[in-house]
Amino acid sequence: MRISQLLIPTLRETPAEAEVVSHQLMVRAGFIRKAAAGIYTYLPLATRVIQKISRIVREEMDEKGGQEVLLPIVQPAELWKETGRWDVYGDEMFRLKDRHQREFCLGPTHEEITTDLVRGEIRSYKQLPLLLYQIQNKYRDERRPRFGLMRGREFIMKDLYSFDRDEAGAQESYRKMYDAYTRVFTRCGLTFRPVLADAGAIGGSGGTHEFMVLAESGEAAVVYCSECDYAANVERAECSPKPEVVTKDPMEIALVSTPGVKTVDGLTKFLQRGAEQLIKTLVYQADKRMVMVLVRGDREVNEIKLSNFLGGPLTLELASPEAVNALCGCETGYVGPVGVKDVEIIADAEVPLMVNAVTGANKAGYHLTGVNPGRDFTIGRVADLRTVEAGEPCPKCSQPLLAARGIEVGQVFNLGTKYSKALGARYLDENGKEKLMVMGCYGIGVTRTMAAAIEQNHDADGIKWPMPIAPFHIVVVPVSLKDQAVAEAAEKLYQDLKALGLEVIIDDRDERPGVKFKDADLIGYPLRVTVGAKTLQEGKVEIKSRHSGVVDLIALGEAASYLQRIIETSI
Ligand code: ATP
Ligand code: MG
Repeated sequence: MRISQLLIPTLRETPAEAEVVSHQLMVRAGFIRKAAAGIYTYLPLATRVIQKISRIVREEMDEKGGQEVLLPIVQPAELWKETGRWDVYGDEMFRLKDRHQREFCLGPTHEEITTDLVRGEIRSYKQLPLLLYQIQNKYRDERRPRFGLMRGREFIMKDLYSFDRDEAGAQESYRKMYDAYTRVFTRCGLTFRPVLADAGAIGGSGGTHEFMVLAESGEAAVVYCSECDYAANVERAECSPKPEVVTKDPMEIALVSTPGVKTVDGLTKFLQRGAEQLIKTLVYQADKRMVMVLVRGDREVNEIKLSNFLGGPLTLELASPEAVNALCGCETGYVGPVGVKDVEIIADAEVPLMVNAVTGANKAGYHLTGVNPGRDFTIGRVADLRTVEAGEPCPKCSQPLLAARGIEVGQVFNLGTKYSKALGARYLDENGKEKLMVMGCYGIGVTRTMAAAIEQNHDADGIKWPMPIAPFHIVVVPVSLKDQAVAEAAEKLYQDLKALGLEVIIDDRDERPGVKFKDADLIGYPLRVTVGAKTLQEGKVEIKSRHSGVVDLIALGEAASYLQRIIETSI
């Protein structure tokens, strides 16, 4: 391919609205253009990357027995009403009506439509397991579409749905997909980690893992063990089952004046005590009821754990100042568990072990010291309700946990019978008995993976594509086309590389070398071959690796096979 003929509109300026590097670089390097918020046109370079990722995904799905299908994007509301998700999905679902006023949506995911297909076509245990997948656009009217392809409203996803005879079969499918995902992201050349995750709204009885590409800019916080294989999204990560036990003699409870001091920070300074001696009291509105939640002052409530504990999914928000006042008789900063009535008190596992703690006094401008749980107030229920932090013991082996940030590029779910039950997807077993199929669903964000690859692989000059998903492997840069020897040598090398089946592009534009080099770095071809008059006099060309920055001078006649070797060993 010749750059002069390709649509690669590179820009010198960083687009103002692009907040993250991958978005900035994809716009600047001529990969994408915005059509509307969260909706993009993929230009030729992006399309090539998408096809490469898709190909790797397809090969690995096929390897595990997946069968590729294409399911409708426009889906009838009736199916979604059968599972109850027409209402649950809320504003994230793009909805439309046809000319007869019949309701449809643009598929945000495809459990309903796949299960509908399967319930109609599968009768016998002999036809199971069945693994169906597609690679296609998904539509989600995200509340905050942002970060370019990272959180789009139209994006490309691979989604696979597994149908098994029983839980053991479903676990086998899950294991296969976990393995396939590990292979996909390894083959894409990415550094990633599978982590335990929260099942969230998609629900289901079984487990779930998220595949995280590790990058500073990642939206997700993860923890992983420094010793064993434990790794989890912090939304999900368990705290050690053995909280620290404090041994102190209990003191008398005392009312202390703390005028204007309403925060943990303020209180630690004012009372000269560590935050771990404070009990933080939060009043939540959980659907229709209120709950009072207690954690140590140095901890954070994990609202996902809390919501699951309360039997979620539910709407969980901090109670309004009016509601707090009605319950405790004071404003939020002075609230505490002592003496409150008519509300369940739920405490994190560390709280019952606290001795002589500080809490709000339910009186404006006052706190209580010497508070002892059990003696001074009654805890309704105790649970692991807080967010784990780096350095705490691993819940599995007690070694310290480490923290990292990640971009969720894939997720595997064991769905149990949630959808097969709602939609009646049954089969006849060996004894002719009717049974529900056990399902799993497995997604990979193809376009998000492309963005994540850039977040993980870039520098100040541009993208550094991992070889397996680079839009082209090699760019040949003739320094001056006016120099006939240079132009001819570059053209011949280009033809030789093409003949070897390598993905090569030649920068045949009538531009200054500096411009060509800048563009090459920006676009991020893994290998750049510079053909210049000076080196050519010695019969050599310069080969530069975008990743290592290392430059080698190689004899012109050997350049093609040299490049071929590098590419073969890095794919
Ligand atoms: P998130 O928590 O980031 O909103 P999700 O958990 O809703 O994602 P899934 O339903 O698990 O996403 O979708 C499978 C994969 O699709 C995700 O792992 C992610 O890679 C990708 N994906 C999800 N939402 C988007 C989006 N808005 N834009 C781009 N990719 C997305
Ligand atoms: Mg997810």
